[in-house]
Amino acid sequence: MKRLFGTFGVRRIANQVLTPEFASKLGAAYGTVIKGKVAVGGDPRTSTPMIKHAVIAGLLSSGCQVVDLGILPTPTVQYAVRNYYDGGVIITASHNPPQYNGIKFVDKDGIGIAEDMELKIEEMFFNENPGRVSWDEIEEVSSRPGIVEEYIGQVITRVDSEAIARANLKVIVDCGSGAACSTTPYLLRKLGCQVTAMNCQPDGFFPGRNPEPTEDNLQGLIETVKATGADLGIAHDGDADRTICIDENGDFVMGDKTFALVEKHLLMENQGGIIVTTVATSTAIYDIAEEHQGEVIATAVGDLLVARELKNRDGLFGGEENGGLIFPDFVYGRDAALSTAKIVEIMSKEGKSLSTLISQLPDYHSIKMKVECPDELKQEIMDKIAQETSQYQVDTTDGVKIFREEGWLIIRPSGTEPIFRCFAEAKTKQEAQKMAEWGISLVKNYL
Ligand code: MG
Repeated sequence: MKRLFGTFGVRRIANQVLTPEFASKLGAAYGTVIKGKVAVGGDPRTSTPMIKHAVIAGLLSSGCQVVDLGILPTPTVQYAVRNYYDGGVIITASHNPPQYNGIKFVDKDGIGIAEDMELKIEEMFFNENPGRVSWDEIEEVSSRPGIVEEYIGQVITRVDSEAIARANLKVIVDCGSGAACSTTPYLLRKLGCQVTAMNCQPDGFFPGRNPEPTEDNLQGLIETVKATGADLGIAHDGDADRTICIDENGDFVMGDKTFALVEKHLLMENQGGIIVTTVATSTAIYDIAEEHQGEVIATAVGDLLVARELKNRDGLFGGEENGGLIFPDFVYGRDAALSTAKIVEIMSKEGKSLSTLISQLPDYHSIKMKVECPDELKQEIMDKIAQETSQYQVDTTDGVKIFREEGWLIIRPSGTEPIFRCFAEAKTKQEAQKMAEWGISLVKNYL
């Protein structure tokens, strides 16, 4: 059977595969499995209202009650579902360009649905017809005004707001015209920061910058932080589940650094705990855990795998190297608002600049590279690489992760594109570069 779902949801160009007909049938298939009260929300893309209304029609046809939450961050929907509903649907393409959109389904805990439920939905989508209820069993659509304010209020209760207010930090916020426009600027103002907002009008054309918060795309924020002498720059992706920081010098801070910083403080505050991450995250996470009574569990790549493991193991904190941090006592998914609040809390309580705090973390350098490879060759190449590298210590949780004296290299076939990803980390940039190139050469040898 054809697979519809990627690592988290279905993502396509709007009105090509992702038409109202497609969205409605998929919504009905999900609704047939859930049979309950389902919350629906999305990011500000031009196609979001079209797809959202189609999904709502599908859900209603399968007998679900629907609560339309409007335009809001992905984690706000996950928060609402965990507390009030039986399921949730999020219309978003996260960091992808404006022509894309997607549909993410979550379970009653607000975690991206598990693979067995995906298979059930796909089976219904392709082979069976979703269950349709009779005319007198069609439920209603309602709204829930105030959910965004409630979510912001909950974030504030989880940090030391007095310490943050005293520090009076100057923060530049770049929401990229995405879903964070309704949360982060308001949150930081309520916490007592001096906020300057840029790209904070929701706009599905993303006129200010590309929604992916990479260093290249954040040049406007970097220049603004430098020009204004701000303490911090904050940027989010389109659906506001990832947070990227710019320090007071205008330097881009890699996501694994903020992950390590927040990990360190949470472990100190809680005298240890379980940290969950993916195999592609920095050794710094392990070093910090060792120093502060933490235990690290590594999953395959994918934020919903991290979220599920956090729930199963009653974990303290989790995350990825891309700026996605998960606070499991709040939302079982990456949460940009609490990440932002935690970072300003740490800066305020420590009384140190972000660059100083980052310089005190274990120092590693990483390089990401990719090489094209047809999908049908991936497994064979993966097997041969596993054979060739058998003299090293390896981890095969996801692709092959090879440990050498100077660092590690992970070689993974992409689940969505005809490429291999090679990701290396070492004590110096040169060594990381060498390791990543070695990975690329291993793949090319067998092409
Ligand atoms: Mg996202």
